[in-house]
Amino acid sequence: MDYLSDLHIDGTWRAGAGGATFPVLDPSDGSELARFAIATEADCLAAVEAADAAFDGWAATPPRVRGEVLRRAYEILTEEREIFAEIIVRENGKAFSDALGEADYAKEFFRWFSEEAVRIGGDFRLSPSGDKRIVVTRQPIGVSVLVTPWNFPAAMATRKIAPALAAGCTTVLKPARETPLTAAYIVGALERAGAPRGVVNLVTPVPTGPAVAAMIAHPAVRKLSFTGSTEVGRVLLHEAADTVVSASMELGGNAPFLVLEGADVDLAVEGALVAKMRNGGSACTAANRFYVHDSLHDEFAEKLAVALGRFTVGPGIDRANTLGALVSLEERDKVADLVTTAVAEGATVILGGERIGGGAFYPATVLVDVEHGSTINQTEIFGPVSALVRFSTVDEAVRMANDTIYGLIGYVFGREDEALRVALRVDAGMVAVNRGVLSDPAAPFGGTKQSGLGREGSSEGILEYLEEKYIGLAP
Ligand code: NAD
Repeated sequence: MDYLSDLHIDGTWRAGAGGATFPVLDPSDGSELARFAIATEADCLAAVEAADAAFDGWAATPPRVRGEVLRRAYEILTEEREIFAEIIVRENGKAFSDALGEADYAKEFFRWFSEEAVRIGGDFRLSPSGDKRIVVTRQPIGVSVLVTPWNFPAAMATRKIAPALAAGCTTVLKPARETPLTAAYIVGALERAGAPRGVVNLVTPVPTGPAVAAMIAHPAVRKLSFTGSTEVGRVLLHEAADTVVSASMELGGNAPFLVLEGADVDLAVEGALVAKMRNGGSACTAANRFYVHDSLHDEFAEKLAVALGRFTVGPGIDRANTLGALVSLEERDKVADLVTTAVAEGATVILGGERIGGGAFYPATVLVDVEHGSTINQTEIFGPVSALVRFSTVDEAVRMANDTIYGLIGYVFGREDEALRVALRVDAGMVAVNRGVLSDPAAPFGGTKQSGLGREGSSEGILEYLEEKYIGLAP
C-alpha cells in the first residue's frame, strides 16, 4: 500500500526542513510500513503561520460551503472505507472489525459537523432596563492546534477537525508518532474534498514537547484541543496558561463497570465484551474496574471468562482475528507488568495472563480477587484485562466507583430504575446504563475531574471553537 508520509503545510506535501524521517511500524510483526517526515520547530511554526494566513478567508467562507467540504470528505471516507480501515490496522494493530468501526465512527464527525456548520446561533434581545439591544454573535476562535493520541488515530482527529472547520477555524494537526499515516490520509481526504490551502495543516515533530510548546506560544494560536493522557494534558494546560490559550482536554479514564444485584448477567457479559474489548481494551472509555455484587460475582466471572476465551488473537489484517496487537511492545509490556503486579497483590488469573510471542499481542485476561485500591484497579490498563472486585451494598459500589481522580465514563448494569439512580450518582461525564457502548457523534463526549475539560461531538462540540461577541445597539 502507498501511504502519504509527508508534512502538509500551506497546501503542500513536503519533507521536514531537516530532511529527517522516523519509522512507522506494524505492531503485529515490527516491520517498517513507511518512514514519515520529521517536522522541525520551524516547520511547525510555518504551519501555524499558514493557518493564520488562511484564517480570514475561511472564517468568511459561507457556512454552507464549509459544510459542503466536510460533507465531501465524509463521502470520500465512505467510498474508501476499506482502505481507511486498512491504514488504521497496519499502524495501530487493532482487529479489522475494530478498525472498520473506527472508520465509520470517524467519518460521522464530518457528516454531523457539516450539518452543524449552518446552525451556529446567536441572540438578539432588549436589555432589562430597555436602554439597548443586546446582540450576541458567535465567531470562530482562531488558529487551532489539535493534538491526538494513537489509540483512535482517525476518530480523535476528525472529532476535532470537523467542528473546527465547521466553526470557521483553521487548524494544525499533530498526531501521535505511532499513527501518523491515518492522520495524513484524513488530511489528504480533506484536501481532495476542497479544503483550501492552509486550512488543515499536518506536522509530526520529534521530539514533540518543545515544538508543541512553541506552537502554543505563537500569538496567532487561540485554541488548543488535546486528547491523550492526563499526565501530558496537565503539562499542556500549564503551557496554554502562559498565553491564555483556550484549552479543551479529553484525558485518561478509569471506568467503573457496576453489576448490581438483580442485573441480567448475560446482558452484563455482553456489555462487558464491548466495554472492555472494543479496540482491544486500548480505549479511554474501556471498562477498567469491574465491581460485581456478591450474589452474581461467580456467575459473571465464569461467563465472562468463557466469552473472552473465544477471542482469537493475531494480526488485525487477518479478518478472522478478533483481538489484534497492542500498539507497541512497550504497551504490551506495560499491560503484562500490571497483571504481574496484580497477582503479587493477591489477584487470581482465571483466563489468559501470559504474554504471547511474536508481535505486540496480549491475550484476553480475567482476574478475580482484585482489591479496590490495588495498583491495577487504580491504573488505566489500556489492554484486554478485566479485573473483578466484589461488593455487597450499592453505597459501597458507588463509593468505590467514584474513588478515582478520573471521571470519563461509567457503566451500570442492573434493574432499570435502580441502575438509573446509580448512574446519577456516578461522578463521570458519561454513564452507560445496561449497554456497553455510548460513543455517538450526536452526543456530548467528555469527562469530569481529571478526565478533561470541555465536550466533543454533539451541538456542544462546535462551541469549543467559537467565541461569543456581544454588541450593544441603540434600542
Ligand atoms: P499521550 O498523552 O502519551 O500522547 C497524546 C499526544 O500527545 C500524542 O500526539 C503525543 O505525541 C503528544 N505528546 C506527548 N507528550 C507531549 C508533550 N510534552 N507536549 C505536547 N504533546 C505531547 O497519550 P497516548 O499514549 O497517545 O494515548 C493514550 C491516552 O489517551 C490514554 O490516557 C487515553 O485514556 C487517552 N485518551 C483519551 C480520550 C478521551 O476522549 N478522553 C480518547 C482517547 C485516548
